[in-house]
Amino acid sequence: MEPLISIVVPLFNEELVIEQMYRRVTAVMAAIGLDYELILINDGSRDKTLPIARQLCTQDPHVKLIGFSRNFGHQAALTAGLDKARGDAVVIIDADLQDPPEIIPQMVEKWKDGFDVVYGTRVKREGETRVKKWTAAGFYWLLRKLTAVDIPQDTGDFRLLDRRVVNALNRMREKNRFLRGMVSWVGFRQCRLEYVRHERFAGETKYPFKKMVKFALDGILSFSQIPLKVSSVFGFLCSLLSFCLIIYGLVEKFFYSQSVIRGWLSTFVAILFLGGVQLICIGILGEYLGRIYDEIKNRPLYVCDELINFD
Ligand code: UDP
Ligand code: MG
Repeated sequence: MEPLISIVVPLFNEELVIEQMYRRVTAVMAAIGLDYELILINDGSRDKTLPIARQLCTQDPHVKLIGFSRNFGHQAALTAGLDKARGDAVVIIDADLQDPPEIIPQMVEKWKDGFDVVYGTRVKREGETRVKKWTAAGFYWLLRKLTAVDIPQDTGDFRLLDRRVVNALNRMREKNRFLRGMVSWVGFRQCRLEYVRHERFAGETKYPFKKMVKFALDGILSFSQIPLKVSSVFGFLCSLLSFCLIIYGLVEKFFYSQSVIRGWLSTFVAILFLGGVQLICIGILGEYLGRIYDEIKNRPLYVCDELINFD
């Protein structure tokens, strides 16, 4: 039987790009000539994304729609797409056409060559601010330093996954998700495909600073326990320092009979410094604790309001 390709597209307030995205993806898939399904996930959009998506579903049976009951976030939307996809290979792509759908045939070729994961690596980012590029570079650097899994640099969620990889991912129901890390963790034969990341076709980023910080924290904390260990290292260093100071104080007192009681500034600085370090360490504990709490509650990752064109 001819293989089926699923294309998963998360949508959050993308009324300006959805139709253009549909046209370009459809053109690409028609050219490949393989059977495909285009799974749109409406992540609680507040604009006309939903009616347009519904319209596309009535026009074209290839298009399927998962409608969330509210905004659950990009990673939850991708998860829903992977859950519902029936394809032998699944391609994840952003709606904003920053990742060109025209790369998909090359991904499919690599898949046919026997690779299970073909991830797109951005060799160039067009139309993104310098701050975004720098923070992204810093984040990927830190991620590589702190985590044991080999998460490729400058690689987003634009990728093709074989059915075996999707099945493995679908069994990982962790709540604070960092999908690109999870794909690396799963393993299998992976290969990269370089591409130029374009400017957003229209509209603006749906990842404001706050969401990005949360996402970055999920990436690091889901794949590393090193931050937890930082406090022990600090603890040892501080204990060592205070021990040296005690020796110094005793020597001063008994051999040079100096009064050691002077300079409350140094005392004050020491207290503030230690207080700060302790609070940061408690904060790190809190980040992990909050994530454990999310796991314990075991709520579903998303709630669907409607499903269209799924059997
Ligand atoms: N997105 C989503 N839910 C959200 C935020 C974003 O489904 O809460 C989708 C969005 O519609 C887009 C993709 O995730 O298809 C990537 O978002 P965006 O392009 O805004 O991120 P950026 O490229 O700026 O990092
Ligand atoms: Mg984008």
